[in-house]
Amino acid sequence: MNHKRVAFTTLGCKVNQYESAALEELFRRRGYQVVDYNQPADVYVINTCTVTHLGDRKSRQLIRRASRTNPEAVVAVTGCYAQTASDEVLGIEGVDLVIGAGNRAGIVDLVEGTVKGRQTVAVRDISGDRDYEELPGETKQGRVRAYLKIQEGCQNFCSYCIVPYARGPLRSRTPENVLAGAAELLTRGFKEIVLTGIHTGAYGREPGGSMGLAELLEKLAVLPGLLRLRLSSLEPHDVTPEILELLSAGPPFCRHLHIPLQSGDDEILKSMRRTYDTVYFRRLTARVRAKIPDCGITTDVMVGFPGETDKHFEHTLRFVTEMQFSGLHVFKYSPRRGTPAADFPEQVSPAAKEARSRRLIALGKEMASRFAATYLGQTVDVLAEQFISADSGGQLDGLTDNYLRVIFSGPQQVVGEQIQVKITEISDTFLNARII
Ligand code: SF4
Repeated sequence: MNHKRVAFTTLGCKVNQYESAALEELFRRRGYQVVDYNQPADVYVINTCTVTHLGDRKSRQLIRRASRTNPEAVVAVTGCYAQTASDEVLGIEGVDLVIGAGNRAGIVDLVEGTVKGRQTVAVRDISGDRDYEELPGETKQGRVRAYLKIQEGCQNFCSYCIVPYARGPLRSRTPENVLAGAAELLTRGFKEIVLTGIHTGAYGREPGGSMGLAELLEKLAVLPGLLRLRLSSLEPHDVTPEILELLSAGPPFCRHLHIPLQSGDDEILKSMRRTYDTVYFRRLTARVRAKIPDCGITTDVMVGFPGETDKHFEHTLRFVTEMQFSGLHVFKYSPRRGTPAADFPEQVSPAAKEARSRRLIALGKEMASRFAATYLGQTVDVLAEQFISADSGGQLDGLTDNYLRVIFSGPQQVVGEQIQVKITEISDTFLNARII
């Protein structure tokens, strides 16, 4: 049976976004037309996230919407929720096919083999997987910044985290395939590549890994046409002296590190099974700033972890203030079935989580503005990413290498170019500038 229209919707992280683009490409190669998720389609693919209960809930809503839009369509569910809770997903009305993390490359055949009304489950135990699942790169033209997945899985087993169960053990893409993927992106006009993965800093650390992240970065950095090379996120222990040495060498390396902190209290960090304490983290940020002045250091902090008291939270507020991050993502702890922390005593109330989250978000905004304000009147390089409006001679937006969003006037033709601009004004979430 030839289903010609396929529609995708994707929840969660950059890796999920990257994989959806790759799966779309598999359908295109088999003659399918990719249509918008709100449109009638013959096949709906929901790439789910399960990192919080909200991820599960949104996944279920999107699944139900598919079968409402076209009850005849094949509804295929993949991603982390499918891998960790396939029974639950099968119980949602309208689901025909559940595909786990290890079977995505065969998605088109699985869809074409599906008979409406007879559910198919292609989910297996991936805890023993050793090989990286190669999926095709995406083929969309003409954007400036592209994500490149280099690694899969995590073995840290932080006590709150479902990811190791959803994604399996460490597996790295071969350096040859990473370099080929990067070269292909550059051929297609991308100027900035963001390396992403589940535990990116553990690249090549599994048995048989041929090289580590630092060596891979060195090889990528010499690719012709690469203006910028950015790392999506590194665990604290993965910010090695070698990595800092490379990042301090200047372009194409971006002076930006996203280093998840999660908590500013040592007791909570221990209970989270994080592998560092606040002394280590303080020294790490000092090393980063000494080696890379102006480095944008962004982070993730979780509030409401079981056992977190007001006192623990005050420690987190104080430590985050001391670290002066240039950006902050705040998450409320969400119990995940199968993780140790879900059974910990002293679960924190939703009201306390909400109150703590608001305070931390406000602090994050303050710190981001303070970091941005140090650039007022300064000249910076911005990679023009998109033309956002034709009003008043044209407006463009882009990022500095240390992750500041800048909006400036200029012609559409400069999209994709690195432009020198002078910062004229600081607003809530971006800086205003003019080309010099
Ligand atoms: S490092 Fe910890 S939080 Fe991050 S994916 Fe691995 S287990 Fe989850």
